[in-house]
Amino acid sequence: MPSRRRCSSGPSASAKPDTATSKKQKKTGEVLVKEVILGNMAMTPAHGANYPVELVGKDVEKLYVCEFCFKYTDDVAKIVGHSRFCEPAHGGAIAGTLEYTIDERYSIYKVDGETDNLFCTNMCLFAKLFMADKSIYYEVKGFVFYTLVETMAGTPPLRRVLGFFSKEKMSWDDYNLACILVFPPFQRGGLGRKLIAYSYRLSKYEAKVGSPEKPISALGLIGYTRYWASILAGVVLCPHASIADSPLSIADISRMTMILPDDITATLKKMDAIEKDADGNFTLDAAKVQQYVSENRVRVSQYIERDGEIWYQ
Ligand SMILES: [Zn+2]
Repeated sequence: MPSRRRCSSGPSASAKPDTATSKKQKKTGEVLVKEVILGNMAMTPAHGANYPVELVGKDVEKLYVCEFCFKYTDDVAKIVGHSRFCEPAHGGAIAGTLEYTIDERYSIYKVDGETDNLFCTNMCLFAKLFMADKSIYYEVKGFVFYTLVETMAGTPPLRRVLGFFSKEKMSWDDYNLACILVFPPFQRGGLGRKLIAYSYRLSKYEAKVGSPEKPISALGLIGYTRYWASILAGVVLCPHASIADSPLSIADISRMTMILPDDITATLKKMDAIEKDADGNFTLDAAKVQQYVSENRVRVSQYIERDGEIWYQ
């Protein structure tokens, strides 16, 4: 269901950072946004912004951001006017193309940083408010963005982006994810896991083991460790019949899950569930895996079989 975002005549004065402005802004420092309003949700930014000073000023009391296209303005009248053109009920469409349907409520859209440059730039500017280390606001062309889209009832259905991850079009290090963010109002609902899971599904499609870009943030590592532990617990505790009776190597697990062997080993060490014998072979301790997931309330992943392959999710 390909659908391209229509050009909107939204708050043009503050919506389109041109290249010259962008470069200048990056040199002059960050903008302080005291409060950001995404749609009708108010949030307090955790970090300084890289919005162009010329467009929003150096200190912004309230920044209004469109929840459909991420255009921004400090003028409430402009955002109200913009919404008339951007809401699905008025013909607006979510950016990118539908890539994967998770369930009736959630789906993943793919947005190209080059062809949907303004959308991706504005989404990154918004994301920067909540990420200390994000630095691709104006250099998005080399990235693809996978957005987590929520579909709500309505005619036409209302769709909005709840978070995203970016991926380099060409990663020399075979990273399958550059940065990831679930927007603050939607955190704590397991949505980050859905995005991480899709990054590994992409690795499966590409037949290339993947890993998130390093260095990984402290918060990112917590989310990833939980995801990896969940997947590994599924492999160890709920093995498919084809692997149940044979000892599993790290390489076997990596082939099945597309998780980098180093990430598997590091996670199993954290779980205290791996031992190295005198010959240098690893031994997995299923009881320790069980203990870890029980104590840390980690969900044990389940496998599905598709096209003759086993996939833990
Ligand atoms: Zn909009």
